[in-house]
Amino acid sequence: MQPVAVYVHIPFCPTKCGYCDFNSYAMEGEIMERTTRAILQDLETSPAKGRPAKTIFFGGGTPTHIPKEQLTSILKKVMEVHPPIEGAEITSEANPGTIDAEKFAAMREAGFNRLSLGAQSFKPEDLIRLGRIHQANEIERAVKLAREAGFTRINLDLMFALPGQTRKAWQHNLEAALALQPEHLSLYCLTLEPNTPFYKQQLRGELIQPDEEEQRAMYEACEELLGRHGLLPYEISNYAKPGEECQHNLCYWRGEEYAGYGPGAVGALNIEGQRLRTTRIKHPVHYSAALETGASPNCEEEILGAKELNAERIMLGIRLNETLNLEGLKLDQKGLDTILARGWATQDAGGLQLTKEGRHFCSEVAVALLP
Ligand code: SF4
Repeated sequence: MQPVAVYVHIPFCPTKCGYCDFNSYAMEGEIMERTTRAILQDLETSPAKGRPAKTIFFGGGTPTHIPKEQLTSILKKVMEVHPPIEGAEITSEANPGTIDAEKFAAMREAGFNRLSLGAQSFKPEDLIRLGRIHQANEIERAVKLAREAGFTRINLDLMFALPGQTRKAWQHNLEAALALQPEHLSLYCLTLEPNTPFYKQQLRGELIQPDEEEQRAMYEACEELLGRHGLLPYEISNYAKPGEECQHNLCYWRGEEYAGYGPGAVGALNIEGQRLRTTRIKHPVHYSAALETGASPNCEEEILGAKELNAERIMLGIRLNETLNLEGLKLDQKGLDTILARGWATQDAGGLQLTKEGRHFCSEVAVALLP
């Protein structure tokens, strides 16, 4: 059977950050246990049962917010249902404020071999403003404990264009992250999503982000500095030492199949020659209730037609620092001509690739290419 990427969504966090629009809930106690049982059932009844796992990724929410016994029992079940291929990457996201040596040791023993730590900033005032529960010094402690537990693959997530952030402060954050010698860095620009407290604060004029020029300078500062530390860009927001690229996320960007379990998880699997995209029920209570009563855990099921698959290949593939193979793709010729004329991409016999300048306009490029 063809290996597949496996995603598990753990939707719980200690509190809700002001900018967050992910499917996450500030909940704990009995609901965690109930949702864990439901995820085990979700896996057990999966139509993809038996397909080997090429990668496994626990995201959220904050997977390390649930008790370690629950976290490791879910991984055990994933490995029963989707036996990992030799050397499979098995990642968990973690919040530096929700871990300790014991939890990391249990995670390593269960089979996790990669960690993605939500650091976001090394400035205490940023962490407070963002509503993060961890302290700046807990990031270093988390990396140290993770190394001691045997994690050799660590990613740090950082955010830029934070309210009031200067270029110098961003540079400080990058240097603080690099001092911890991570194998991978994910650097995201803070985006203000509707229905978040941050969005409302911005509307009221209480939150001001650095302007576009500043944001651009912050983005550009990354490549040169990270390059000196051996971290190379391989996707719009992601940098890795050679061989340390996140294999799981590469599966998404390359349009490969993935199975998704847990509240709100999305999956995309080939069933009888068609790509079926499923979305699990988002709220943990309703998701658990569905699985307890034998009802479908999905709130959406969609067969992706040629048009949607074509759009996905463009939108995701163009993000990578590799040539987008245009064979079989339908593109808007006028849009392509405009992008090439603006110097946002180059084209050769192998396909299309964004230029350095074009990386600032990735979304615009993708939209222009859509037929
Ligand atoms: S830790 Fe992440 S998922 Fe949880 S509330 Fe904050 S941003 Fe959202």
